[in-house]
Amino acid sequence: MSLDGTYDPANIFAKIVRGEMPSAKVYEDADTLAFMDVFPQAPGHVLVIHKSATARNLLEMEDAPLQAVMRTTQKVARAVRAALKPDAIAVMQFNGAASGQTVYHLHFHIIPRQEGVPLGRHASGGMADPKVLAEQARAIAAEIR
Ligand code: AMP
Repeated sequence: MSLDGTYDPANIFAKIVRGEMPSAKVYEDADTLAFMDVFPQAPGHVLVIHKSATARNLLEMEDAPLQAVMRTTQKVARAVRAALKPDAIAVMQFNGAASGQTVYHLHFHIIPRQEGVPLGRHASGGMADPKVLAEQARAIAAEIR
């Protein structure tokens, strides 16, 4: 059901793009934005979005903005690796409520993983300390190439 619908410009990520909601920014260019997830599933959990594409999910995304957002996802994942030195990195993306999607503005999760540490709960764990998120964002941003 939630695979189909109309893009809502009042969604939380659109508000972040417009500066109506705060975020701990990691990277921004003309087309894309990366910022810390406030309910991280692991320390260093980053979200990557296209700033102007109004796709609710991957299935709706046009080719050019998809390329831009994937390029940024790779760039930020490399920076996460350099900054945090995780054992592994999960890149995740959900389409529709039954898959776990809660925000209907296409986004990619970059989640550092450590051997033997279970993945935290999705979109429902504790809210991170904004100071910690700002520090993690700064450390990751310093490794963007
Ligand atoms: P999804 O469930 O795949 O749609 O992912 C949405 C993600 O957005 C979840 O991981 C939430 O923790 C995260 N999230 C929700 N509100 C905010 C916010 N204001 N700033 C940063 N991340 C958020």
